[in-house]
Amino acid sequence: MEIVEVKQVWEDTKKELQKALPSYVYDTWIVSLEAAGYDNNIFSLLTVHQMAVELLRKNHYAQIKTALEKVLGKETEFSINYDADLAEKYKKDKQKEKSKLKKEETPAKPLDNLAQMQSFSNLNLKYRFDNFVVGENNRFAHAAAFTVAQNPAKKYNPLFIYGASGLGKTHLMQAIGHYIIFNKPKLKVRYIKTEEYVNELIKNLQHGGERNARMEKFRQKYRNVDVLLIDDIQFLESKTYTMEEIFHTFDSLHNNNKQIVITSDRLPKDIPTLPDRLRTRFEMGLVVDITPPDFETRVAILKNLAEQISMKIDFDVFEYIANNFVNNVRELEGAFNKVSAYADIEKVDVTLEFAKKVLNCEAQKKAITIDKVAQASAQYFNVTLEDFKSTSRNQKVSGARHVAVYLAREITQKSFESIAEYFNKKHTTMLYSYEKIKNDLKTDKELDRAINDIKINLQKGT
Ligand code: ADP
Ligand code: MG
Repeated sequence: MEIVEVKQVWEDTKKELQKALPSYVYDTWIVSLEAAGYDNNIFSLLTVHQMAVELLRKNHYAQIKTALEKVLGKETEFSINYDADLAEKYKKDKQKEKSKLKKEETPAKPLDNLAQMQSFSNLNLKYRFDNFVVGENNRFAHAAAFTVAQNPAKKYNPLFIYGASGLGKTHLMQAIGHYIIFNKPKLKVRYIKTEEYVNELIKNLQHGGERNARMEKFRQKYRNVDVLLIDDIQFLESKTYTMEEIFHTFDSLHNNNKQIVITSDRLPKDIPTLPDRLRTRFEMGLVVDITPPDFETRVAILKNLAEQISMKIDFDVFEYIANNFVNNVRELEGAFNKVSAYADIEKVDVTLEFAKKVLNCEAQKKAITIDKVAQASAQYFNVTLEDFKSTSRNQKVSGARHVAVYLAREITQKSFESIAEYFNKKHTTMLYSYEKIKNDLKTDKELDRAINDIKINLQKGT
């Protein structure tokens, strides 16, 4: 096919996709795709966004394929690749556009494009209402969240969502944010994890420099919004100034009729360090809970995941996974991802046999504890458990400790608080270790090998 024709096919396909996809997906990821060729029945596309490669494949594979096939009139495959040159050009064009706008002194509309909106709001594109499965366990929370999304600051303010880890609180909260930035783009939304908020506050409070100006900026950042989403409020440290700050931010927003949404792993009254005046404020809107999903909902969540990646999976596989991962959607999802990734690598169909082999649930039930993980890590790095629990900053010890913390979290899924308790450290320190290793793993092959070896040792029970 001539390249002119290829381009035309893509233009027509885009029209189809504009109808088939939510506008935010289309505007963010599809518009900038370029057609590069059509060979061997594979339609090649180039993108300027690195993350689009995986995101589109994972979430919108079927829609793109269908649209292409409709235009081409036959079955076809497609590829999406990141193109650095194209990306460079795209960046330059954008910059030019920007500086042109500046020159013309057209006041730049605040947050008028999605990428900007997203980076301002700190939201993750993954968490939306349309991929949140509603079951008995979250029906009320979902309804409340959706009401808030449709009527920010008009109905339940604050909305307080609580429930154990891995049940969808963050997902639901971010879905509210998404809904608002797409449907009411004039409203400013900001999502923040409590731990990050606290760290940022502490950093700004430090003496020196323009402390007052810094604090003012910090305050504005959280008070000058229309919707504030505060995740995992149980991590609010019991320091007076943290409480004071959040108290004033809350009042400022609430008095100005701005929406606040809060999540927590427990009820306000069960957060021991929470002062009464904050507790009563958190309870003054609507308090809703999310509980673990029942069997049917677990299966529905798995089905939904399979659909997202267009993978055909037998019902007995869903049943098997749903029967073995009962209390935590994050684990349920993790199990599914593991099975589908292995099937993809090994190019096999997902049968019950295969899922059993991959998940090896019986063995997992032997319940690996934080202590076992710590022991295996200590042994591997030739340090002691006492070293882990000590304040030693010796490089070897702290390196080994980072790994132990990372593995403890990954394998046991225990809260950072429980892990902190075991290691005799602050939970923010644990969080730091975890993030550090997670990050280092992206580039450090040796670390990857070490971690795998420790996992194998753990499975062997040594
Ligand atoms: P929490 O904040 O309660 O710890 P998350 O919101 O992070 O839990 O959810 C953990 C994972 O499970 C996320 O990947 C989320 O998308 C997924 N998840 C939880 N509940 C649902 C649901 N009802 N439908 C679809 N995915 C869900
Ligand atoms: Mg969460």
